[in-house]
Amino acid sequence: MPESPVTRAEAELRAAELRKEISYHAQRYYALDAPVISDAAYDSLVRELEAIEAAFPDLVTPDSPTQRVGAPPSELFAPVTHAGRMYSLDNAMDMDELDAWLVRVRDAVPHERCTFVCELKIDGSSIALTYEDGVLVRAATRGDGRVGEDVTANVRTIRDVPLRLNEVDGRPHRGLVEVRGEVYLPKASFERINAENDEAGLPTFANPRNAAAGSLRQKDPRVTASRELATFLYAIADPVALGLATQSEVLDWLRKAGFRVNPDVASCADSDAVRAFCEEALRRRDSLPYEIDGVVVKVDSLALQEELGYTSKAPRWAIAYKFPPEEKTTRLLDIQVSVGRTGVLTPFAVFEPVFVSGSTIQKATLHNAEEVRRKGLLIGDTIIVRKAGDVIPEVVGPVVGLRDGSEREFTMPKVCPSCSSRVWQEEGEVALRCPNVACPAQRLERLIHWASRGAADIEGMGAEIIARLVDVDLVRDVADFYTLSVDDLAGLDMGRTKQDGSAVVLGETVASKILASVDASRTRPPARLLFGLGIRHVGAIVAEALIDEFGGISELASVDEERLAAVNGVGPRIAASVTAFFAEPRNRDVLDRLAAAGVVLDAPRTDELRPRPLAGLTFVLTGALRDHTREEATVALKELGAKVSGSVSSKTSFVIAGESAGSKLARAEQLGVPILGEADLEEILASGRPPGTP
Ligand code: AMP
Ligand code: ZN
Repeated sequence: MPESPVTRAEAELRAAELRKEISYHAQRYYALDAPVISDAAYDSLVRELEAIEAAFPDLVTPDSPTQRVGAPPSELFAPVTHAGRMYSLDNAMDMDELDAWLVRVRDAVPHERCTFVCELKIDGSSIALTYEDGVLVRAATRGDGRVGEDVTANVRTIRDVPLRLNEVDGRPHRGLVEVRGEVYLPKASFERINAENDEAGLPTFANPRNAAAGSLRQKDPRVTASRELATFLYAIADPVALGLATQSEVLDWLRKAGFRVNPDVASCADSDAVRAFCEEALRRRDSLPYEIDGVVVKVDSLALQEELGYTSKAPRWAIAYKFPPEEKTTRLLDIQVSVGRTGVLTPFAVFEPVFVSGSTIQKATLHNAEEVRRKGLLIGDTIIVRKAGDVIPEVVGPVVGLRDGSEREFTMPKVCPSCSSRVWQEEGEVALRCPNVACPAQRLERLIHWASRGAADIEGMGAEIIARLVDVDLVRDVADFYTLSVDDLAGLDMGRTKQDGSAVVLGETVASKILASVDASRTRPPARLLFGLGIRHVGAIVAEALIDEFGGISELASVDEERLAAVNGVGPRIAASVTAFFAEPRNRDVLDRLAAAGVVLDAPRTDELRPRPLAGLTFVLTGALRDHTREEATVALKELGAKVSGSVSSKTSFVIAGESAGSKLARAEQLGVPILGEADLEEILASGRPPGTP
């Protein structure tokens, strides 16, 4: 974590940056099932933001990612509002944090003897099941905690989910009951699916958790059915209504009603017993047929639970003790160098395959030469590896004591490993680059990037298939994806053999599926396509800002550098890179061919016909409005052509301040920006005229 900002202004700035970054990663993780950073790194960002907000409570905004659990549900599934909020859990990263929590809970309820229930933390995806008169009527994912996705059709295919409940203690079920738990994929099924996907040339899942979430959110329930999902239930939304008094009774009730309940549960009276359960769980982790990533400790008494209550995102009466990342040792066979889409040379470790946190790994990035030196790695070393956040393989370091003198040092190559161009180093940068835009390795990476999820999202067009298409010269640049036919793809030799010795070729069904997704990718939002072009320094967020400002990729191509640099969040470095990209005839040619192939580079500008009376004005909203949510107000202002910004600057035209407006109001006063109230906003929206005009 970077050093904490000291001044309020610094804190505000940093918090805004963190929020943007966290929202982006939350979206990747929850809505797209495609995280780009490890859970640990994500947690660390959230913790930093929490720390800032704790120090400056007035900086907390209602839309801060700390104020909610996950990300909004995707549009594929109908939204379901949960009976009661589905909370996340606070984490204890080690035994000390766990002890501190136990003490805190005891201190909070000193009048009562407090016992705890320890359960395994199943590494899957949370689920809420609703029964009406004992019959399953709905299944939903957690979503953002308030609203999840309706996955009933898929959950019905899970064999251990009862479609009808058993009577409990002779009482028939009346009315609605919502129960909660975890859907997971057994380790064996996970390995089978990955092996099958691998054989078919499809991407594999990083861990059983991602595989479970992905399997649950299939468009076709038959696919879910083929995945062998299983469940453990551990909660009831309103247990008091069923006459239950403790978590132990909740588990009993669930068991009697016919749910699968994890048998590894312990009632613990003190912290020694809790600690013993955690240590035992960690010892047994590998021998369980499913993944666990920790232990959940809960206050047993429901009355005490209620007394302890909730923070904005988690119960105070429960905590997740997270296991330290699993580490294994293996042998570093080689350090090789890959070339990224912008030409950067990146060293990576190649080691003897080793099974860690749910899957076999054999490569890990080493980021740059400096990192190799800092870690003190020699080729031939015995090394310690793990998965950061249980997803991304990582080399922790060498076991120096096991060296025998045969190890050798690694040096970065002087020429590109792909095209043999002399590598160079930009001033002020650590990275070495291959300067050749036609470099085959760079070209391949650019193609993979275009097809990836955050960009054109061509489902099924994975790295391996793209590599083969390049090998047989069917695809040279991204526009070539759109000229492919089923005949080009079906029968494509994957350059591998099956166990029986026959060649792996792409089947007709897979081929037409891939073509269908190529087709679908023609109409991805322009910001994603812009990101997909892989222009240096233009990440997903910058792409969004550029499209917001200029409307589309063709428009952007004709904007001069100065105007680009003036865009909020862009600046001279990005502007230069964008201008250089569009100045290159080869890139222009690709854009022309994309457009000719029916790829929609510009959003349809329906608003051009509409009057935009507020064009050129920038509004900032702060505080709570009485009659509008901030989102509604933002949309309404934007429809009239205004820009709505998150922070007050000298460029702000008006600040609209609602109830208990905080720092933004103060800043507006400081800068002399006119401040309007909700009534003025009404006036503007009703008249469609900027304030102060007759
Ligand atoms: P996290 O996603 O890291 O915030 O952890 C919270 C999640 O852990 C919950 O939303 C549940 O999906 C999951 N979980 C797994 N096992 C349990 C359990 N025994 N009790 C409560 N939550 C659990
Ligand atoms: Zn090269």
